[in-house]
Amino acid sequence: MSHVMTTYARLPVAFERGEGAWLWDTNGKRYLDALAGIAVCGVGHSHPKLTAVLREQIGRLIHTSNLYGITLQEELGDRLAAISGMDTVFFCNSGCEANEAAIKLARYYGHQKGIEAPAIVVMEKAFHGRTIATLSATGSRKVQAGFEPLVAGFVRVPFDDLAAVKRVAENNRSVVAVLVELIQGEGGINVCHSGYLNGLREICDAHQWLLMLDEVQSGTGRTGAWFAFQHSGVKPDVVTLAKGLGNGVPIGVCLAAAQAAKLFKPGSHGSTFGGNPLACAAALATLGIIEDEGLMKNAVEIGDFIRAGFGTRLAGQPGVREIRGMGLMIGIELVQPCGDLVQQALDAGLLINVTADNVIRLLPPLNFTREQAEQLLDMLTPLVLDFLSQQAAPQPAAQSA
Ligand SMILES: *Cc1c(COP(=O)(O)O)cnc(C)c1O
Repeated sequence: MSHVMTTYARLPVAFERGEGAWLWDTNGKRYLDALAGIAVCGVGHSHPKLTAVLREQIGRLIHTSNLYGITLQEELGDRLAAISGMDTVFFCNSGCEANEAAIKLARYYGHQKGIEAPAIVVMEKAFHGRTIATLSATGSRKVQAGFEPLVAGFVRVPFDDLAAVKRVAENNRSVVAVLVELIQGEGGINVCHSGYLNGLREICDAHQWLLMLDEVQSGTGRTGAWFAFQHSGVKPDVVTLAKGLGNGVPIGVCLAAAQAAKLFKPGSHGSTFGGNPLACAAALATLGIIEDEGLMKNAVEIGDFIRAGFGTRLAGQPGVREIRGMGLMIGIELVQPCGDLVQQALDAGLLINVTADNVIRLLPPLNFTREQAEQLLDMLTPLVLDFLSQQAAPQPAAQSA
């Protein structure tokens, strides 16, 4: 019996070694990685520059404590402020912790305004993490079921619906913030319309709410900009980041601007590991590689190529509802649940994911090459076509045992 808690229904494979977008399992079989550890390994596996930086840092210093100054944390804070336009940063170790910091910031802000029970507007199909507060903010009964009572103070509205947010503003005086993913990741690669962020900014300004963006999955270059919000001219008050920031070394950050930037005081919040020298070295090296190797431009080019490729190859298929996304955050929505495709792709030597039951999710490394993109198209297209033709055919009678 395995002693690992069964929180995941794991695929029957374990990897031993990786290089760029390739992984090798314990039997020596090679896989093309079009998931990158769920948008984590943006610069690919075992990037030589990152490996060298990490080796050196581990030999020098891994951890001290936030009781002391941490030079690399200061350096990473400067770098994150420069690329985001935000003013301050809180360091933690994961996406849910980054969102916990954002939720605490919003509540703290509300109390300073004299609001006794501050509430945050959140979206249907949102995913913000698995801690008790972040699963309460998450818009999925699957994530919440069995863990009630949920944390109070969240008001839920449909995603990408400004009128719904306006109705909340008119009726609820306790709201202090909006928390939203501009591209919902776990929810099915749902992309908001181009005026959505502007509209949210206007509502937030009119009611002195904080505009808080969960860029845990969409950030760190994945959509072709450092942050998805940078495709518009809008400036948020709070942004969270995690997954791709350390390329696999755990790190999360909560960035804040303007009035949100200086709310926390010594003792307001903390983290033992948050922003330790190893994690900060990993993030600085990752950001450096993304910039030096032009990986955001590559994410746009290769992402467009992949979407166009599937668009052509799956054209006219009634079983394909939509191909969408931004940069290398790609979703192919089918008309029916398609979780079986994950195992079929694995057998074929390809790592993909299915989310929201019927959306094939692709999150390859940001340095995915044109050749790898073609391999992805060649491997996945026949699997999707086969899957769709089997679904369309009459089901064989169930065999009785
Ligand atoms: C993955 C994810 C989280 C949770 O991150 P963890 O590191 O697993 O806690 C939160 N928000 C979004 C948008 C995510 O994709």
